[in-house]
Parts: sequence; C-alpha cells; structure tokens
Amino acid sequence: MTGMCPFCKEAVELKKTAKEGDLVVCKACGTELEIVSLKPVELDWPLDDYDEDEDYDYEDDDYDDDYDDWEDDD
Ligand SMILES: [Zn+2]
Repeated sequence: MTGMCPFCKEAVELKKTAKEGDLVVCKACGTELEIVSLKPVELDWPLDDYDEDEDYDYEDDDYDDDYDDWEDDD
C-alpha cells in the first residue's frame, strides 16, 4: 500500500496496519505526513505542523512534577 507525498510527489510506502490519522514520513523528502484517507490513500501535512516549536513545551511539565513532590510533604 502506497500513497503519494503531496510535497515531492514520490510514492510513500505505508504499513499494512496503517490507518487514518496515522503519521508517516516520506523517505524521499523527510516530510511528516498524516494519512487522511485510505481508500484511496491520501496524505497531507498534519494540521499542527505550523507549531513545531510547541513540541518542546512538554519538557517543562517535568519541572512542575518536582514542585508537586515537595509540596506533598508539608
Ligand atoms: Zn516527499
């Protein structure tokens, strides 16, 4: 099963277990793509692609957990 990369128009191979909403990476151009449809296969850019910087925000959550720990001791 293959789809077409909307960016470079190369074929992107999908896993047999691929389902709508899964993310795949085009090996030709390295673009991360979301499977928006399987019959026929359609690939598109994930909607949150614009906010790549926000991916790093989750690391801040670790610090919050530490503060919670010492607050519980009181
Ligand atoms: Zn591509």
